Amino acid sequence: MRSFLEHAEQTRTRPGSGFDIEVTEEVKRSVMASCDVRGILEKWGVQPTLGSNGQWSGYCPDHFIHDGHPQHQPKWTMNAENGDCYCFTSSRGSNLIYLARRIYQLSTNEEAIRWLTNGEALAAAPPEFVFDERTAEEDIEREQHRLEELSKGVETVRRLVSRRHLSDECLEYFANDGITKDTLDALGVCSVESGWLEGRAVIPFIDSEMELCGYVAVCYKGKEWWVKTQYDRLKKADPKTSIVSVAANYRKALYCSGFLSGSHLFGLYEGLFYDGTPRRLDRLVVVEGERDAMKLLQEGVECVSVHGTSIKDEQRTAIKAINPKTLYLGFDMDAAGCKAAVKEYDRLFTEMECVRCVNFPDGKDPKKFSSRELEEILADADRSTFENLAARQEIYDRFRQDARQKKQPAIAQ
Ligand SMILES: [Zn+2]
Repeated sequence: MRSFLEHAEQTRTRPGSGFDIEVTEEVKRSVMASCDVRGILEKWGVQPTLGSNGQWSGYCPDHFIHDGHPQHQPKWTMNAENGDCYCFTSSRGSNLIYLARRIYQLSTNEEAIRWLTNGEALAAAPPEFVFDERTAEEDIEREQHRLEELSKGVETVRRLVSRRHLSDECLEYFANDGITKDTLDALGVCSVESGWLEGRAVIPFIDSEMELCGYVAVCYKGKEWWVKTQYDRLKKADPKTSIVSVAANYRKALYCSGFLSGSHLFGLYEGLFYDGTPRRLDRLVVVEGERDAMKLLQEGVECVSVHGTSIKDEQRTAIKAINPKTLYLGFDMDAAGCKAAVKEYDRLFTEMECVRCVNFPDGKDPKKFSSRELEEILADADRSTFENLAARQEIYDRFRQDARQKKQPAIAQ
């Protein structure tokens, strides 16, 4: 009788196959039957007890991964049959196999199963489990769908950009951050007055081929306006309809459908390599938001936005390829930004010539500073990167402390 792992091994060695074991119900049950569940849970600090209801319970084993600290109360349960588990503090479901993957940072289910079962063959007979081939087909379909969506989005932005329309209200919105019309024109930003993107400023994205590759549409008219407009629209379409809430659907920033923000650095080809020729930069500042990047570029600071709080793998690879003499990490001063700054510094300082942690005074966003102030802030980062990192860590710790204290009374009740 062949074990899963043998079967998987054979599939894997087939040319061109990169398939992993799919976690089906049968696989889950076989894994649970083949491993020392109590021993594993003890090793993970769960302090497990097995109830008569067929449920393991204890402390959430990967709580420090998803919540950044250990669970304070044993509010985690796992089905003893199939290993499906649930963390009640964070309302997160998972499975023993995925837990092992996360805790040991394994890249495949197969490795996780191997770890859980000590590399032994699984006890139960291999059921008719399904390998990822079907899923691979689905992946291709999904990818095709994404590309179609993307090309529609790119067509939309091409049309909008060619109109070069910028309303006064939109100009004022950017002017509040000190972003000028010249900057907006240079980056091809335009405002939309009707249709689906009404009330939004479209910021186009450009790739290394100097082609339009996506956009983000920022609502410059504000949430209140958006909610009222949607409400009126729905009422007009059907006066009898009862509307519970449209506010929950509000998104300040809408990304082009199908656009993968994790592989794009905004500002690189839009502003820095606008002629399409990459060159080595003396410095590069990484910020979260597109508008931050727009402002810094306007102020003569070499800058890219990562479209969010974290640098994704492809973005990190691109940054390393640009290889600036100094990389400045300019995340926001909130808890998420501080966590990212400390984490990314740890990750990059051994891999790059020089990495600096930038702290913006008074907790303000990067876009709130003038050219002269920004130069001073960067000079300060050169002098006191370690102090800045310590301050960032402190902000993050305080946030976690506050979050914990807020939880305390609820637990005491
Ligand atoms: Zn948890």
